[in-house]
Amino acid sequence: MVEIKTPEQIAKMRAAGLVVAEALKACREAVAPGVTTGELDEIAAKVIADHGATSNFRADHGGLWFPGVICASVNDEVVHGIPGGRVLAEGDFISIDCGAIVDGWHGDAAITVPVGEVAPELLQLSRVTEGSMWAGIAAVKRGNRLQDISRGVESYIRRQPLPPKGKYGIIEGYGGHGIGSAMHMEPHVLNYVERGRRPGPKLVTGMCLAIEPMVSLGTPHTHVLEDEWTVKTNDGTWASHWEHSVALTEEGPLVLTAFDGGRAKLAELGITVAPDPLA
Ligand code: MG
Ligand code: MG
Repeated sequence: MVEIKTPEQIAKMRAAGLVVAEALKACREAVAPGVTTGELDEIAAKVIADHGATSNFRADHGGLWFPGVICASVNDEVVHGIPGGRVLAEGDFISIDCGAIVDGWHGDAAITVPVGEVAPELLQLSRVTEGSMWAGIAAVKRGNRLQDISRGVESYIRRQPLPPKGKYGIIEGYGGHGIGSAMHMEPHVLNYVERGRRPGPKLVTGMCLAIEPMVSLGTPHTHVLEDEWTVKTNDGTWASHWEHSVALTEEGPLVLTAFDGGRAKLAELGITVAPDPLA
């Protein structure tokens, strides 16, 4: 069963989404050589607390406690990196994932940020990953099926020229998800189209989905470290992760975790976003 939200509930998710946007903006501005991932976590925690929100990350996840309000995944870490004493160095590449709860409603988003000057193929990897997220978001419209989002993400990545070294590996085993009264809900949103898989449910008004491609410069395969959280690529290639939470409303999509609701990026794709319920 996919949870369907009322406009009032979507407005609360917009409030949560804006807290996440603020936290990620503060983290992005703080990323620099010499900063630790634990310091970024403190910055995000302060933004969440200052808005009277709570963290959905620093919580128990199926019997496994996550100790941060952000995931800080550096270089060949894809997702779920635990923030702590790791010092960022010039040339590193960090994906920051953050979530927040307002009045029981959840937001979830992620960005990739270069640390100082990074190799051009990494900037391109981040652009491709972010672009694939927007291509997936562009498929969030009434009448489409869930798989149209997966196809949007995958086909965008497959259309890109290959990087000078390696290839784009769409990470397998992780993906987006429904979001609302909990962070992770039905349905799972694959970042690629699996052969023989049904096209999934029709997208209808009131659905809210987190769309989050993860792409490496090599393999799609990963493993989890002994800390039981950090996910790394099997071949050591570096990875990027971008995510937004999106609501499908009567008046079109609204990107809950983007300050402008996704207006600018979706306009480039010929899509008009729904009015911001909190504006
Ligand atoms: Mg996330
Ligand atoms: Mg997510």
